[in-house]
Amino acid sequence: MTLRRVAILGSTGSIGVNTLDVIRVHPERFKVLALTAGKQIDRLAEQCVEFKPVIAVVADADGASRLSKILQEKKLSTQVLYGPEALITAVTQSDCDTVMAAIVGAAGLVPALAAAKAGKRVLLANKEALVMSGNLFMQAMQLGGGELLPIDSEHNAIFQCLPQQFTKAPYDYLGVEELWLTASGGPFRNTPISELSSITPDQACAHPNWVMGRKISVDSATMMNKGLEVIEAFWLFGLPLEKIKVLIHPQSVVHSMVRYRDGSVIAQMGQPDMRTPIAYGLAWPERINAGVEPLNLAQLAALSFSEPDLIRFPCLALAFGAAKIGGTAPAVLNAANEIAVAAFLDAGLPYLRIPEVVEKTLNQIASVPASSLELILAVDSQARQVASNIIRKINR
Ligand code: NAD
Ligand code: MG
Repeated sequence: MTLRRVAILGSTGSIGVNTLDVIRVHPERFKVLALTAGKQIDRLAEQCVEFKPVIAVVADADGASRLSKILQEKKLSTQVLYGPEALITAVTQSDCDTVMAAIVGAAGLVPALAAAKAGKRVLLANKEALVMSGNLFMQAMQLGGGELLPIDSEHNAIFQCLPQQFTKAPYDYLGVEELWLTASGGPFRNTPISELSSITPDQACAHPNWVMGRKISVDSATMMNKGLEVIEAFWLFGLPLEKIKVLIHPQSVVHSMVRYRDGSVIAQMGQPDMRTPIAYGLAWPERINAGVEPLNLAQLAALSFSEPDLIRFPCLALAFGAAKIGGTAPAVLNAANEIAVAAFLDAGLPYLRIPEVVEKTLNQIASVPASSLELILAVDSQARQVASNIIRKINR
């Protein structure tokens, strides 16, 4: 058993908290060296008191001084830093060997890339990083020489369904024909389309099977999440896009599947509980107790599968389109979606306008090769501006 020294980017979020839940049960296996959060200072303070990291990072100076004060009162020697640069410091200067990349959205890209370059074991939850810069990210992993373990449940499932000793072999040799990403279809799978116009943020965030952060919950309702995951799978597993399929599976028991040339389909099943993929990534190639209820198949009435409806879920079609175009189109898709979802959650943008904002933004920004991080970040901020302007016009 190796002791793993862990940094968690986004420790106060849904994935971060689940990661600490797994770590808490295995103090002999894991030591927490860095914790980072955006604005949830009190929750981060509690985590610091419990796990005593060397470094803690928050978004801004105000938060840092509040956190420092609390930690001083508790006589902790944790160094408190703030800002985007400090996220890189948490990865590169904390002496960690494992990084959970669980910041939501584009904000997580730069520190995740830093972990890749530094040769860490990267546990990747932050799918937006791969969507924006898949090529650069995979190159950085290769140059750094670390291990990339997908945490997104579908990708973690596929990783488990591939022969481990051959993960780097050509797929032709392995006989992999297709990857099947399963999707629950979210809370509005059967809602009459006429009722979708009045959907509220709380309705959109009430996922039938998974408890997640608000942004990914809305993405699951629109199925943009599955679109981002198709792009994520494309980069992680290196298969042509047309070999990556989406299947609606409302029960969320089969987390994804691999179809092989000889007729075999291998599936990974389990409870819809992120602690399973998190524990798998943390301890890989060992398996540890994740605190997850055993799956009782006899108690489930049925498992069902169907094709997704691209009319009901236009975001899925937009993501397929951007994936096909390639270059910076997926980064534009992602940025426009982040802005549209934030406007839906906080500024009254109607639910059905989310795909419209994404589509119009994609139409206004031509794709170019995603050749450098600087270029990708510039396109990201351009797309944010264009999307914000589109929303302003809608609200007028
Ligand atoms: P969340 O909103 O619950 O948590 C996000 C975390 O990131 C928080 O710790 C927050 O403080 C931090 N953060 C947000 N903005 C930041 C910024 N600008 N700078 C620094 N830190 C910032 O989100 P989540 O549901 O935990 O999702 C995290 C990532 O994991 C997302 O990319 C999501 O797509 C992916 N993911 C989540 C789940 C899930 O079950 N929650 C499943 C699969 C993949
Ligand atoms: Mg997923």
